[in-house]
Formats: sequence, C-alpha cells, structure tokens
Amino acid sequence: MKFTEMKSNPTAANLPAKIQRVGAIGGGQLALMMGDAARNLGIELTVQTPSAADPAVAVAAGSVLAAIDDVGATAKLAELCDVITFENEFVDLDGLAQLADRGALFRPSLLSLTPLLDKYVQRCYLQDLGLPTPRFWAWDSGDPLPEEATNFPLVIKTRRHGYDGQGTFIVKDAASFESICAKLKGRPLLLEEFVPFDRELAAIAARSIDGEIAIYPIVETQQEDRVCRLVIAPADISLNVKAQAESIARTLLDSLQAVGIFGIELFLTADNRLLVNEIAPRTHNSGHFSIDACKTSQFEQHLRAVCQLPLGNCGLNCHGAVMVNLLGYESAESDYLMQRQQLAQIAGAFVHWYGKKQSRPGRKLGHVTVVLDSESAADRRAQALSVARNIDFIWKAN
Ligand code: ADP
Repeated sequence: MKFTEMKSNPTAANLPAKIQRVGAIGGGQLALMMGDAARNLGIELTVQTPSAADPAVAVAAGSVLAAIDDVGATAKLAELCDVITFENEFVDLDGLAQLADRGALFRPSLLSLTPLLDKYVQRCYLQDLGLPTPRFWAWDSGDPLPEEATNFPLVIKTRRHGYDGQGTFIVKDAASFESICAKLKGRPLLLEEFVPFDRELAAIAARSIDGEIAIYPIVETQQEDRVCRLVIAPADISLNVKAQAESIARTLLDSLQAVGIFGIELFLTADNRLLVNEIAPRTHNSGHFSIDACKTSQFEQHLRAVCQLPLGNCGLNCHGAVMVNLLGYESAESDYLMQRQQLAQIAGAFVHWYGKKQSRPGRKLGHVTVVLDSESAADRRAQALSVARNIDFIWKAN
C-alpha cells in the first residue's frame, strides 16, 4: 500500500468543516468524473484504487493505492476523509462493518449495500418489496434445473463481482448449457428466466439524507454483447411507463434508506410492464449523459447527497441526448487521438476520454454525448441511432 500527499484545495473553505473531504472506494472512470464535479464544488476527493495508472488518480486530491476490498487501506482512507462513498461495490462488507463500528462514515450506508451485492440476495430483496423481477432461482451448476426452468433460453449469472456482462450468460441450447456449467462449476450462481424485452430502460435517482428524492429523465439503454453501447435520454415511453419507473425508483431508494445516486436497470416488456434487472448503489453508465445534457450531473448530485448539500435540479438543459460508449475493439496501447478529434467535430458532441493506457475488446475507454435538437421524441430516437452509427464508424476507423 502506498499513500500520496494530499494537494490543497483553496475553494474547500465554503463547505461545512466536516464534509469537505470525500473518499471514494474505486478509482476508475466513475471516480474520474466525480473528481471533476468535486473540484467544482470545492470538495477534496481521495480515491482507493489498485494502480497509480487508474483514471481517477490524476484528478484526485490524493490516493491510497490498494485493492478495492483491502480493508486496511479503507481504514487509512477513513483517516484522510470525512465520509467514504463507493464507485465500485466489490467491497468486503464485513471488514468495512468493523471500520463503521470504529466511527468511519459510509454514504450510502453499509446497510443500504447489504441486500445489493449478491445478485440472488438482491432479487429476493426486490421480491420481498413486491417489485417485479424476472423469475429466478438460486442454483448450483451441478444441480438439476428447477422444473419451471427447463426451456431454453435461460440466463445464468454469477452472484457476485459481475460487471459489463462478465458473469452473465444467456444460454440458448443444451450444448452451450453444458459448457457454461463446466466453466462455472463451484461458483455460487443465479438462474433466471430469459426476458424477451421490448427495450431496456434505466432510472438514475438520488436520495438525500433527509429523504428527498430526485429522479433523472428515464433513459433507454442498448447493450451489445451484454455491454452498454448507447443511452438515449429521455426514453420515448408512455407517461404510464415513466410513472412505473419512477415509482420503482422511489420505493427502492426509500426502502434502502439510500444516500447518493443509485442506478436501476429495467426491462420493458411488449405489454408495457417493467421488471427490475439490477440495482447499482453508485453512479451509473446510463447517467453519463447528465454531465452535458442536465442541469446537474449525476456526479455532482452524488457528492451533493453524500456531503449533505441540497440536491440539484436533474432536468435536461436541452431537448434530449444520446450517449455512446467508446468500447475497446482491439488489444493495443493507443490514445486514439485522431478518432477523438474527429468525434469532437460532430455537431453538439462532447467527447470524454478516461485516459486508460491499455485498450482491450469491450473495455470502456471513453464516451461521447451528443445533444439532440428535435422536439419530437420519435425523431430524436431516429437521430440518436443515426448519430451512434456515425460515432461507431469514426471510432473504429483506423
Ligand atoms: P452486469 O451486472 O454484468 O451488467 P446484467 O445482469 O445487467 O449484467 O446483464 C447484462 C445484460 O444482459 C442486460 O443489460 C441484458 O441485456 C442482458 N440480460 C441480463 N439478464 C437478462 C434476462 N433475464 N433476460 C434477458 N436478457 C438479460
């Protein structure tokens, strides 16, 4: 473990003394973007992250270089900060509980995180709350399939540490079922029905310590190979679906006594029902559009909630926007400067680059948000898809 010196922050004096220093467990792109928001709010952000090359280290006031689940490192982070938050939920909750007992302040609280870190436990929590989810079973790859789940396709998920589709397997037939079972042998698994959704949506919502809730415009998300490729804000959905999504977000955040931003991934069925796919207790990829297209970004909103500042307005500052992830498509060391310069020429485009040194297929290297000017939701969706095709074309042109 290695500690770097804290850099001073001259604007921090305006905040109440106790909440000027925020620690983030994780130092990837979410912490990087939180770092920009922290600077604007005059907050000192210190990150706990394994490598000095991780995206947020360059913008943070300080860093504790250690693994995400290194509780000793989080103890050091707690000494440097007034409050600790999460950009990554792959933490050792039992270890952190000992720090909380000794006075470390976590926002969201460890209690809010407890039902969310294991996908099976999360599904049970949603079910107990009466919220709609895909049908699911706890299951071991050596066990026979439950009677109600004998038809393909089926979905198998590892219960912990899944991200960007790693750990999620859509099993189409008996042959792939066998090979996936062999690969996952011995790991705790969640089995669930395959939902032939019409579209995927996401609700990004913030809750303050006083219980105030602010919900961003509900967005449509599109995944490719189970990784988010693009997000359209706002989603072209009926008022009824919007109300359902917002009601799910309120129920969940209140029940969790959440503090900060939470991302809620949803499936929209052909008959206009919503099912909750997953809850992330942190800022979320489907909220990145808010940096350029909303009055308050999700990163600023998260810090506001965590630091007990009033929540900001999460309304759009334009008619709509599309966010396209710049996903690695090769193993290479490149800063893709030429492509980024070309992307910046697109009208209404904001290019965000995470500064990762190494590209790998599927790795999130940056994103582009393009604000959309059409007043009609259907036109905007068509415009969004066409902009996304153009971005992909430029991005992958060598
Ligand atoms: P991760 O936690 O790695 O992001 P998810 O559980 O969110 O994994 O799944 C990634 C993607 O896989 C989803 O966005 C969706 O496209 C697809 N998926 C996941 N579960 C199901 C399901 N039960 N039915 C249909 N598609 C699913």
